[in-house]
Amino acid sequence: MDPAVTRELGQDRQLLDLDFRDTEGLVASYLLPSEEGWTLIETGPSTCREPLLRSLARAGVGPEEVRRVFVTHIHLDHAGGMGAVVDAFPRATFYAHEIGVPHLVDPARLIASARRAWGAAADPLWGPIVPVPAPRIVALRGGELFPLRGGELRLLATPGHARHHLAFFDSGLEALFTGDGAGVRLEGSPHLRPAVPPPDLDLEELFASLETMRATRPRSILFSHFGPSPDGAQDLVRYRTIVEQWRDVALAAARERREVPFITERLREHDRAASAAAPPSDRESLVSGYELAAQGFLRYFETHGLLGEGLS
Ligand SMILES: [Zn+2]
Repeated sequence: MDPAVTRELGQDRQLLDLDFRDTEGLVASYLLPSEEGWTLIETGPSTCREPLLRSLARAGVGPEEVRRVFVTHIHLDHAGGMGAVVDAFPRATFYAHEIGVPHLVDPARLIASARRAWGAAADPLWGPIVPVPAPRIVALRGGELFPLRGGELRLLATPGHARHHLAFFDSGLEALFTGDGAGVRLEGSPHLRPAVPPPDLDLEELFASLETMRATRPRSILFSHFGPSPDGAQDLVRYRTIVEQWRDVALAAARERREVPFITERLREHDRAASAAAPPSDRESLVSGYELAAQGFLRYFETHGLLGEGLS
């Protein structure tokens, strides 16, 4: 059986389902046409290498036709597989934010933090994290433009979820690829969920980046987790409110007890009450977990002096 799924989004743009954890609808990559060849946004982790290559084959795209590969940021579910696909796309240039590039070229810190966070489960989940050869990768800062067929791809610096996060506006489709910068919304789910992990979550930057993204006036939002939002750009507005609610719950909890399990439980209770009509699915917790959010918020509170004098 071939589980690779591709879907036309209009104007020859396509969504590729990377079948992460053998599960549909968790991690997406996007394929965009240009006169020189194809542009890919997100590689997914190394464990998604085969589904990615199968999806491209199914889309009728030869490996040598892929000319540009972008990632929104270097978290493993978005870019862990970049090094593993370098050989597969011999004519492609790879791109990431300049803060992320050194960690893709020398992934020692990515590997260490994956082991810290997931222990022995890291390898089956993410696969080998392979270095990207320095000559193959170009650093970005946001503001760059790349040609697409029927438009251009405009890069936006969108720090907050991570300092090195980028979003991509496709002027042809009038669509915004938000990575994790506008949260997580799995296709078919009513829930827009916070993507607020450690270590460099910054909520002020995150909210400012939402305004940067709104200023492009997108007609649609294309999430990396996962696919087009049925509500278009409205999700950019909603997301701020949802993150603020989670932040308030987490901050009250952290001031009571500065412990991740305690904050995690409070977030879970809040979410259960807030989404009582349609409880979040197990699939959603795979890409937007309470514990990771609790860790992200706690670290943000501590580094921003929000837990009171003399406590941090
Ligand atoms: Zn991320």
